Amino acid sequence: MQKLKHIEINIWKACNNKCIFCMSWKVRFDKNSWYKWIVEFEKIKNDIIYYKNLWYNSIWFLWWDISIHPNIYEILEESKKAWFEEINIITNAMIFSDYEKVKKLVLSWATRVNISIHSHKEEIEDYLTQIKWWLKKKLKAIDNFNKLYKKWILKSKISINIVLNKKNLSSITKTCLYFYTIKNIKDIRINFVRPDLWMKENFKNFVISYTEILFEIKNLIYISLKYNIRITFDTIPICIFYKIIKNKYIIDKFIWEKFDKIDEISDLSSGRKFEWKNKKTNELKYKNENCNKCIYNISCQWIRKEYYNIYWDWEILPIIN
Ligand code: SF4
Repeated sequence: MQKLKHIEINIWKACNNKCIFCMSWKVRFDKNSWYKWIVEFEKIKNDIIYYKNLWYNSIWFLWWDISIHPNIYEILEESKKAWFEEINIITNAMIFSDYEKVKKLVLSWATRVNISIHSHKEEIEDYLTQIKWWLKKKLKAIDNFNKLYKKWILKSKISINIVLNKKNLSSITKTCLYFYTIKNIKDIRINFVRPDLWMKENFKNFVISYTEILFEIKNLIYISLKYNIRITFDTIPICIFYKIIKNKYIIDKFIWEKFDKIDEISDLSSGRKFEWKNKKTNELKYKNENCNKCIYNISCQWIRKEYYNIYWDWEILPIIN
């Protein structure tokens, strides 16, 4: 089987939601921001062809929500015409509570869909996303995608993305079990909340430390192994898992960075292109001398810079053997 080469295309900064922890807030209303509200279809089309000519065969659309781009179906069709084997959509899925839209999306050749959802409890989800009735719409969208998967029209099972934060932490295991048992979802990615300062007054309500999540991580690892649910965690370093389990092979199953497939990102809204893993390690993350003593020093992608400014030293213990 041919190896997949993955490009992620970020199309604009528009979104139909206002998730409280989303970094879109940072730039959405900033007049000096270089991000564009709308990237025209022609530009997106040219990028699709550009990457096809560089032998990329898997394309991901995200940032922020492709579902409300006026040319969403044409974008997918262009990707199909360019012979991309995988066409991935990351979406809040709100508009896909409408079955006809889901059908059109899948028939335009979306092969894999990943839905951002942060709780199975209405009061938490609606609060985090700041849109009322959001949860109901999203659950309906999940049912719609599942229906098309069962009919063999959608190629892959849907997966979900959860941002782990102070609001959903205590119910996170129940949330994952809900999606597994009620919505038949077996692939869940949990992203650790970015402790960024744009949250300002909300900061203390959402930001958590690695130490605070240990108990729930343990429960999540337990249910993942027991029910064979694929649960992966983003931006939580290996040494945190090591406090729970000392087995490297088990830990490896849970580290998202080991599965992060994206090779390059083309941010059309700002006109920048960059090699993703390189940027992640060298610009977004930080390590200190503790990491130099750790056996994972080379393979680990370390700690987010923002996190380092708040917690770091007393929590991160290098793994020596
Ligand atoms: S390299 Fe640093 S952050 Fe990574 S596991 Fe080791 S101590 Fe933790």
